[in-house]
Amino acid sequence: MNIHEYQAKQLLKEYGAPVSDGRAVYRAEEAKSQASELDGPLWVVKAQIHAGGRGKGHFKEAEAGEKGGVRLTKSVEEAAEEAQKMLGRTLVTHQTGPAGKQVNRIYIEDGSGIETELYLALLVDRVTSRVSFVCSTEGGMDIEEVAANTPEKILSFSVDPASGISGFHGRRVAFALGLKGAQVKQCVKLINTLYKMFIERDMEMLEINPLIVTDKGDLKCLDAKMGFDSNALYRQPAILALRDETEEDPKELAASKFDLNYIALDGEIGCMVNGAGLAMATMDIIKLYGAEPANFLDVGGGATTEKVTEAFKIITSDPQVKGILVNIFGGIMRCDVIAEGVVTAVKQVGLKVPLVVRLEGTNVEKGKEILNNSDVDVIAADDLADAAAKIVKAVKG
Ligand code: GDP
Ligand code: MN
Repeated sequence: MNIHEYQAKQLLKEYGAPVSDGRAVYRAEEAKSQASELDGPLWVVKAQIHAGGRGKGHFKEAEAGEKGGVRLTKSVEEAAEEAQKMLGRTLVTHQTGPAGKQVNRIYIEDGSGIETELYLALLVDRVTSRVSFVCSTEGGMDIEEVAANTPEKILSFSVDPASGISGFHGRRVAFALGLKGAQVKQCVKLINTLYKMFIERDMEMLEINPLIVTDKGDLKCLDAKMGFDSNALYRQPAILALRDETEEDPKELAASKFDLNYIALDGEIGCMVNGAGLAMATMDIIKLYGAEPANFLDVGGGATTEKVTEAFKIITSDPQVKGILVNIFGGIMRCDVIAEGVVTAVKQVGLKVPLVVRLEGTNVEKGKEILNNSDVDVIAADDLADAAAKIVKAVKG
């Protein structure tokens, strides 16, 4: 789960990391009073969406020469005006995709004078199974670009959990970033703090881009992106409270409420499968037969008819879905439960696209019988290849 920049900065502040003073704005009429609580002489107006690259992004239906999602202004009035212009519109960045994201919240910040922009991130490194730091002197840029063009400008190292974080790590970062004097001490403190919050709050990713040296020579976190381990949210109620459901795919959100493992994808074949391995294999074989999966969906072992019904509804609610492939190997999951779920869902929401069903395993005969005795227009399949061939043919002709 991700959170907004202004929420991440609030968290940074609670842990004692240096951030600017700022105010979140939800409604246009609040903009001026919120901005007037900040000192100036520079007010930075920042669109809050769960995507980076806002500064270089653009709004849909932008006026000629209109700035992106990060705007520097010189008065409270100007700040309020820019905030009002951005609210409710759609911001497109290289991370949002062409559809962009609607801006429902604005963060107005006390602007900083910048000496240098640096890059700092913490992430979970799957190779070493440790928390890794990544830092670079090339802040404010896409780190992927820096990694591709000038990899020598990136330092990364992981922290041994047995010995934990120490001043050594902070000094290593400070040296790599070319920090001097008091900045080194600030950096050591910051590295300690970030590592501590990363562990305590079950983060997956924490990116400060840019980390800046201000014109007064101090370190400050000017941007912040945080991602949290969804599997740990049960023990992070304060983080869970920061969830912004409008930022999430509505289909994925619905699926999470029913405890379904669902990921929306771009293709045309909706998949309902049990077991992550079989779901992956199903996606692969759809591709092999020349089509693209519209989703990953694992209904799990203990799914009920109700859960299967919801899963089916989520799949059919996607306008991109031109055909559905149900592929079940009944082990713990019983084929008759799946069949009943499919029939119930079709009764409730109808079926406008071809449906191929491949059932195998526990109660398979009962499952087939339920489907055969229903009015649902099912194309039966015998195995994975047969199922994939049939659904691709039904969709593509
Ligand atoms: P992003 O484009 O989504 O990554 O948003 P950032 O928060 O990183 O802002 C983009 C850029 O705007 C930064 O790299 C800075 O160059 C600039 N910027 C942001 N805040 C300030 C500020 O307080 N003062 C100044 N001078 N520039 C800022
Ligand atoms: Mn940034």
